[in-house]
Amino acid sequence: MTRAAADGPPVPDGPGPLEVWASRETVVGDTRVRRALPHRSRRTVGAWCFADHMGPLAPDATPTGIGPHPHTGLHTVTWLVEGEMLHRDSLGSEQILRPGQLNLMTAGQGVSHAEEPTARGGGGGMHGIQLWVAQPEATRHGPPAFEHHPSLPGVELGSALATVLVGTLDGAASPARRDTDLVGLDVRLRRGAAELPVEPSFEHALVVLEGGVRVDGRPVVPGEGAYAGPGRHQLDLDSTEGARLLVLGGAPFESAVVMWWNFVGRTRQEVAEAGRQWNDGADRFGDTGSPMARIPSPRPPWDPSRL
Ligand code: MN
Repeated sequence: MTRAAADGPPVPDGPGPLEVWASRETVVGDTRVRRALPHRSRRTVGAWCFADHMGPLAPDATPTGIGPHPHTGLHTVTWLVEGEMLHRDSLGSEQILRPGQLNLMTAGQGVSHAEEPTARGGGGGMHGIQLWVAQPEATRHGPPAFEHHPSLPGVELGSALATVLVGTLDGAASPARRDTDLVGLDVRLRRGAAELPVEPSFEHALVVLEGGVRVDGRPVVPGEGAYAGPGRHQLDLDSTEGARLLVLGGAPFESAVVMWWNFVGRTRQEVAEAGRQWNDGADRFGDTGSPMARIPSPRPPWDPSRL
């Protein structure tokens, strides 16, 4: 149903249909990832700007980790389903991350970190998700920071158990930092249906980690990203086999962002400059103390004379 505006095109009465797309397959370090965000039609969803579904690796596989690399202008949000990794950063943090725990690193004006295999090595495989959240203008030039949250609140919703990684659900609030209106949920859906209440002013992305789910009646499986626009009061989920999915929502972001390599900025000049500074060993990125080799910045793909 649409109604005609006084002049101009018809205005939809409610939210548009769910959009579903295939994630882009790539390799980070030695791990297969399926990149649900950014997508050409959805660069940001709320402030969420990057979603890499990592693995799963075989239980006996040993991930090699990711050597020291820089970030600017974003939070990294790391959440594991299986396996473990050692986070080390230029703030002096050294933190093993295990399933059910959240690492949240704020880059601000500059940070560097490494994700190292643990002494336990394989024996747990590797399966998880690496998310980035764009920082707003108000905080993106601020200091870096790191948080580890060993436990997070859970909410029962019919056939689902939702863990609140960021933001709030049904009165349960995550202790994790957020600089904009944002929610991040890990939803484990048993066989059957659940109504997930959502903030109507938020847009949402969905990333299915395991199983298969119907969202508002539309099937979504691992390897796909999905988008639900603002105007909804709930997402109707159901599954015949059970599913695990991430629901990432927020108020539409304040501006367009420029993402290149590991940087989120507003202009090509500033992200290109960050890459040059990393390669020059600039102080803004500090030193992780990791034994792994630093990853050098590539050259920007665009023509520098046309910045
Ligand atoms: Mn990183």
